[in-house]
Amino acid sequence: MRRPIIAGNWKMNKTVSEAVDFVRQLKALVANVREIDIVIAPTFTALQAVSREIEGSNIELAAQDVFWEASGAFTGEISPIMLKDVGCRYVIIGHSERRQYFGETNESVHKKIKASFTLGLHPIICVGEALEEWETGKTFDVIKIQIIQCLEGFSREEMERITLAYEPIWAIGTGKTATPQQAEEVHAFIREQLEGITHRQVSQGVRIQYGGSVNSDNISDLMAQPNIDGALVGGASLKADSFSRIVKYSKM
Ligand code: PEP
Repeated sequence: MRRPIIAGNWKMNKTVSEAVDFVRQLKALVANVREIDIVIAPTFTALQAVSREIEGSNIELAAQDVFWEASGAFTGEISPIMLKDVGCRYVIIGHSERRQYFGETNESVHKKIKASFTLGLHPIICVGEALEEWETGKTFDVIKIQIIQCLEGFSREEMERITLAYEPIWAIGTGKTATPQQAEEVHAFIREQLEGITHRQVSQGVRIQYGGSVNSDNISDLMAQPNIDGALVGGASLKADSFSRIVKYSKM
């Protein structure tokens, strides 16, 4: 039985005081939720303040990216040590916006995952196809390559720490979602691919989130699918109220 994980990716939004305000509201709204891992990924500048604010609560902290070196002359980058230092448990790696605008590749994603493991972070690794790839039936080929190139060579213990997020790029921030059945088909395919690179038992335990215009109206149908274990939420995670409704989907 996989424990659901719902994560909010704030992208480049919220000042420190806005982030703290949000967390105060969210803490109260989800205080009784015990059966789901709740994660928020603020910007780097708000991590420390949010970390203090969520201490002792049922909300966990993620960063939106990480660099693979521990320290040194890498202007503008943040290392896994620094993320651990401010209280991050998770780190999102390979988000499609990083791939699209900042030159992230499967190779750099692999290096970042590896570096995260050395500090005991839990990577949330994003995969997904572009609109044209979806329309021309290349989804499975693209996902297969992403999975192999991002994840090959990791040990059983390392694979047990990962979460995957399937995010069709055409569904991110567009209001278009894959239907629960379309998403399930890809999630099942992802699990099958995982089985090819790790032990069956491990692949069965890996949580696979869906991401792409998830909101409080579509979350229940998505979560009802056998291989959808959570959501990575962008736009609808920016308001405590809408994010809490997604987190509490099973009670709605
Ligand atoms: C995302 O950025 O990971 C995402 C899924 O965004 P949205 O929910 O806004 O589509």
